[in-house]
Amino acid sequence: MLSEYGLTTSHQGFHNITAMVKEAVQESGIMDGTCTVFCPHTTAAITINENADPDVVHDMLIALEKAFPDRGEFRHAEGNSAAHIKASCIGASVTVIVNKGKLLLGTWQGIYFCEFDGPRSRHFFVKTQKD
Ligand code: ZN
Repeated sequence: MLSEYGLTTSHQGFHNITAMVKEAVQESGIMDGTCTVFCPHTTAAITINENADPDVVHDMLIALEKAFPDRGEFRHAEGNSAAHIKASCIGASVTVIVNKGKLLLGTWQGIYFCEFDGPRSRHFFVKTQKD
């Protein structure tokens, strides 16, 4: 089953989308299989990381900014090359195992939509696949 969700983002940030992905898995009715979360944008990404301490994703943004700063020699006319690079480094999708109807995430793991070039109206897909 394929589900689509929308969200509105601010400038840069990690949005916890775990509840939406859980909802998609529940609606699909699958008990065992996999779930792929896919971001169809070139300046946003999907990742799994710490869900308890919001400082972790805050620090990830700082680290990404340091690793991939905007540079004068970039040629992309839209002026958001750093956001494109961050999106590719984090990746457009994650796959999570569905076990007994639930996402097999670790206790401290959450699924995040990562915005690197907002504010924008975004969407992402969740595809569930039965074993
Ligand atoms: Zn661009």
